Amino acid sequence: MKKREIYLDHAATTPVDAAVFKKMLPYFSEKYGNPSSLHKAGDQAQAGVIKARQQIASFLNCLPEEIYFTAGATESDNWIINGIVEKARQNIKKPHIITSSFEHNAILEPIRVLEKNGLIEASLLSVDKDGLIGLDQLKKAIKKNTVLVSIMYANSEIGTVQPIKQIGELIKKINPKIVFHTDAVQAVNYLNCDVNNLNLDALSLSGHKIYGPKGIGALYLKKEIPITSLIRGGGHERGKRSGTENVPGIIGLGEAITVIKKQSHDKIKKLRNKLITGILRDIPDSYLNGSLEYRLPNNAHFSFKGVEGEGIVIALSETGIYVSTGSACASHSLSPSHVLTAIGLSNEQAHTSIRFTLGRQTREGDINHVLEVLPKIIKRLRKISGR
Ligand code: PLP
Repeated sequence: MKKREIYLDHAATTPVDAAVFKKMLPYFSEKYGNPSSLHKAGDQAQAGVIKARQQIASFLNCLPEEIYFTAGATESDNWIINGIVEKARQNIKKPHIITSSFEHNAILEPIRVLEKNGLIEASLLSVDKDGLIGLDQLKKAIKKNTVLVSIMYANSEIGTVQPIKQIGELIKKINPKIVFHTDAVQAVNYLNCDVNNLNLDALSLSGHKIYGPKGIGALYLKKEIPITSLIRGGGHERGKRSGTENVPGIIGLGEAITVIKKQSHDKIKKLRNKLITGILRDIPDSYLNGSLEYRLPNNAHFSFKGVEGEGIVIALSETGIYVSTGSACASHSLSPSHVLTAIGLSNEQAHTSIRFTLGRQTREGDINHVLEVLPKIIKRLRKISGR
């Protein structure tokens, strides 16, 4: 019999939805044309790409020509930072960027490099213990040379949801020319992403976090925003991101985003709350990290005093339960998570943390099983570590 497997790491990646996969399949074999070709095979592929662009635009409430396909959110995030700065530097010697200390490294790293090379000024906003950014702090940080503010919609590690609409309102009131971008990778499944309503000029999203394929993402960019091209070549994506389109991936992204509209989040939230209540009740010295109120409905992130997070992940994995110590991309790193230190955890506390992220397939039996297994694991690991 196949060992029971319980996957609770949906912030790292999600399985491709069966209906999405079915829609993608013909684009590998029957409809394999290059969308740029003039013949019928090309037209067929092009029609699929047009439809997917419309599906995404409809979800975000923007124009189809404001959607650019990329190879994922890391690419979208890098592009918005580098592309806005390169353009701005044609008029401003040292443009200023505002972000938070809490962002994904796909935002922080390109900013660090630009700053190190003396090309920009950067302000990193701090977050409070719940993981929230203060609007006053943002207001004070805006300067004459500020060209871009990038604040993530929902945090990938502790699930904190930022007040994006209010942040956008504030920025636009102070200076409507400042580009407001959000990394919405973790938010798209659960939160309203109407870019007009949220006062957004740019938004990054990723296929594999929304039950679509890996290696495909998109950047929404408001029409009039000046940006340099990401990849130069044959002029694809209105000259901004050249390269033959990843047609099956694009079809998958369009379908995946369409499926989201049909989902209810009540069940997932109920199960997540059961997990939180059960863990805090049954495991002494366990703590929930981040705001409970302003949080994605599928996220639960804990610290367990005196136990290494990696040890818990491995022990759970041996029983067929898959969780994470935090951001999937950073989970091989030995340094403490910058997100956890940003909310005030010590390095030691940060190392005792694990993240559960539930998904569409999560059942009550899965949560019951975790609540049965985890207290024993923590007890055993604490014994080994001499606590
Ligand atoms: N931004 C956030 C918030 C993420 O969680 C991730 C993935 O973990 C990324 C960006 C990178 O996305 P991709 O894997 O599509 O490059």
